[in-house]
Amino acid sequence: MLAFPRATLRTRRRPAAAAALLKPAFRSAMAVVATLGALFGSMSAAHAALATDNAIPVVAAENFYGDVVKQIGGAYVNVTSILSNPDQDPHLFEASPKTARALQHARVVVYNGADYDPWMTKLLGATAAQSRQRATIVAADLVGKKAGDNPHLWYDPQTMPAVSRAVGAALDAADPAHKSVYDANLAAFLASLKPIDAKVAALRAQYKGQPVTATEPVFGYMSDAIGLDMRNLRFQLAAMNDTEASASDIAAFERDLRERRVRVLIYNSQATEALTRRMLGLAQQSKVPTVSVTETQPAGVNFQQWMLAQLDALGKALATP
Ligand SMILES: [Zn+2]
Repeated sequence: MLAFPRATLRTRRRPAAAAALLKPAFRSAMAVVATLGALFGSMSAAHAALATDNAIPVVAAENFYGDVVKQIGGAYVNVTSILSNPDQDPHLFEASPKTARALQHARVVVYNGADYDPWMTKLLGATAAQSRQRATIVAADLVGKKAGDNPHLWYDPQTMPAVSRAVGAALDAADPAHKSVYDANLAAFLASLKPIDAKVAALRAQYKGQPVTATEPVFGYMSDAIGLDMRNLRFQLAAMNDTEASASDIAAFERDLRERRVRVLIYNSQATEALTRRMLGLAQQSKVPTVSVTETQPAGVNFQQWMLAQLDALGKALATP
């Protein structure tokens, strides 16, 4: 079993100029936290009174968790999602002063954990003193994952039921007057996940054990749920961590595509570099069907629609003779 080591592989190849810019950005985020902390410390009573008249401020580090909060909280929540652009690589994200400001007001915070969004832990620590009423939901903690595990937990069919239940409980506690609304919305949300489970079961019945590969481990848990034989994990890990894949891992990947030893290439269109784009080209040349997946939920669809669309695309690709 391949581990997902963090510290050793987390050193990313970034242009020197970008690296120089990112660190001051985090420092200034902390400065904003400190300033706002001083301000809000004295205003906390007024702020609490205000909150009862308005929607519950919620911050989700990733927009699919934000979507779940919106589906359960409806009109009674005001959700800010930090990672919401499916054209950016979330593994390269760094916190900004804007992130810190959003967290300052949050009554409920949801994030992934398992080292996917380490900037959240830092910012939450910095705002802890001003946010005693804040409920924090960490997806990784709910499903027993930690740094070093595959962090793409929202592709595991077991994650969203656990996260949505925790969100429902947090909203019930933050706003007991609307408990019946949150409970009903939670039940509807859980029921709406059933077609995803059914699709996974159908794919599993038909394609369990089929060899596939991927450019990055984003789809890993879903692939495991379907029972696919996922190949070239070390290559995927290097792509995720933006480190060099070894020559032998690259050669094995190329051989799988060229000799059509895999039924499908799952392509993370959000974590691309020259090497993964080359693999996509090689798959197309070799007539290996490709399925494009993203880390971040695209605009205009909800979580359930996003997952189902990707599973449908995978089903079509696997059905290719
Ligand atoms: Zn990823």
